Amino acid sequence: MCGIVGYTGVQGAAPILLEGLQKLEYRGYDSAGIAVMEDSRILVSKVTGRIVNLCEKTQNGAAVPGSTGIGHTRWATHGAPTEKNAHPHLSNDGRFAVVHNGIIENYRALREELISKGYVFESETDTEVIVHLMEMYYHGDVKEALIRTSNRLHGSYALGVICSEEPGKIYAVRESSPLILGVGVQENYFASDVTALVNHTRNVIYLEDGEFAEISGDQVSVYDCLGQPIPKKIARIAWDVQAAEKGGYEHFMLKEIMEQPGAVKATITPRIRDGRVFFEELKLSDDELRQITRIVITACGSAYYAGCSGKYVLEQLARIPVEVELASELRYSNPLIDDHTLLIAISQSGETADTIAAIKECKKRGARTLAIVNVVGSTIAQLADYAVYTWAGPEIAVATTKGFTTQLSVLYLLAVLFADRLGYLVGRSAEMIAALQQIPMYIQQAIDMNHRIPRLANKYHKNHSLFFIGRNTDYAIALEGALKMKEISYLHAEAYAAGELKHGTIALIEDHQPVIAVCCNPAVMEKTMNNIIEVKARGAEVLALTFRNNQKIVSAADDFLFIPDVNPVFAAVIEIIPLQLLAYYTAKENKCDIDKPRNLAKSVTVE
Ligand code: GLU
Repeated sequence: MCGIVGYTGVQGAAPILLEGLQKLEYRGYDSAGIAVMEDSRILVSKVTGRIVNLCEKTQNGAAVPGSTGIGHTRWATHGAPTEKNAHPHLSNDGRFAVVHNGIIENYRALREELISKGYVFESETDTEVIVHLMEMYYHGDVKEALIRTSNRLHGSYALGVICSEEPGKIYAVRESSPLILGVGVQENYFASDVTALVNHTRNVIYLEDGEFAEISGDQVSVYDCLGQPIPKKIARIAWDVQAAEKGGYEHFMLKEIMEQPGAVKATITPRIRDGRVFFEELKLSDDELRQITRIVITACGSAYYAGCSGKYVLEQLARIPVEVELASELRYSNPLIDDHTLLIAISQSGETADTIAAIKECKKRGARTLAIVNVVGSTIAQLADYAVYTWAGPEIAVATTKGFTTQLSVLYLLAVLFADRLGYLVGRSAEMIAALQQIPMYIQQAIDMNHRIPRLANKYHKNHSLFFIGRNTDYAIALEGALKMKEISYLHAEAYAAGELKHGTIALIEDHQPVIAVCCNPAVMEKTMNNIIEVKARGAEVLALTFRNNQKIVSAADDFLFIPDVNPVFAAVIEIIPLQLLAYYTAKENKCDIDKPRNLAKSVTVE
């Protein structure tokens, strides 16, 4: 779940590697290292902690000269985040250096085999077997050693390799972990994602699983796992460089919260044509749609909660039963899925390991698969029958905001599309389309009308525990609101279906216990109102999230977060905005590392 980067060309490699690693740091940040080749000598520098430590140690790269190198920012899976375990790892003969993103599942057996052959291990990582295998299989041909090494590895890996016998060359291998190549003029690159490349080049090659690349300053050659050359197309990255920078905001997270009106607009607007929803990428005929008897949504983390929220709207509008399953559960549940099932898989990065495995399981059973992803060309986008992009632009903060709201927007679009094509929208189509088009404006209003949030955060940040309650669509948003709070402010935050309180949880309510009540869904408002009264009667302090003019709720609660008066069908995507801001400002009060919360990483490419 780390970031890897490689450079070869005419400039000093180290500063470029360090800059790339800083861009990738959101993917993992417990230790880091670079290996740079000067003539035939490989110099390695590693640190624990953040990339700034590596910049300091190498005097911003000046201490590690050479114009070819590889770098790594780690999110440890095997072995503690120590300097010894940090990548790059070196072979015993000093010829090879390797960086690795992913997990080698059969590393124990390989390690024993290599130890019995006399190889000495310096680290506790699974990765180190790779570099010793390279040494073992090297007889003058790096490509051959790479192929033989890859054949021995089970698991997921994106690898960067340099060999002192081939100064000026970097090698990159991809198997179930993200990796792209950047093509420049007299200089070329690889990286875990485009954010590390956009400052240097917009020309990229997407590697596929089982492929590897041999890269020098003036040539990029891609091969399949047998070593046969593969012609590859160069794609252009359309992302704006600024989109991956903080642009004056203190944190990426705040910037990304503020970007949501634009991001959601980019998701929705191109999908509405002539008053109807239209997805170019979804080539599903009316007949095929009618054959779908069930939708299963699968995802992890916030994307799962987007699914929980979208379920209500899909069922309500399109009248198709929807189940939402955590990908980490679905993959091992021997699921009852057949060719009448539409599997919707949601993942911002498109690289989430559990979601990939769940898709594969369901495909085996005949499901049609639709992926909602942000990163173009990602594994999930390629794996699914239909890839629907959220077009949110790069999301850097580990805790998702615009990723979530754009995913939910796609689910809304799908709900309206399916409902329309199945004949359930007669007479309501124009209302639904108008409501979809207004979402970006209402998100902006929700941002603007909640300027009291920093004060509320100041009031609540010292509590050890917060409860979030809601029903139906409000419950799904309570779940995501609580997750946001946990992830970045480290407060214990628990979401409950409001009706469940009296079945146990109400025992935890005591004087001054904060309860955040999400109360926007008119169909269950009275019911949630009763729950507010119940917890208040037991001493709770209630912060209610509701429509601006909802006097009833306002009179019952202690504090308020507001959303504008929107069409209740699509209210959830607006409701989450004040909760994102509340989590952000609470984390700020608690002086947390908001963009890089402890123990987390942005794209979870390991199980
Ligand atoms: N499994 C490797 C390790 O623990 C790589 C982890 C990563 O992807 O950062 O070192």
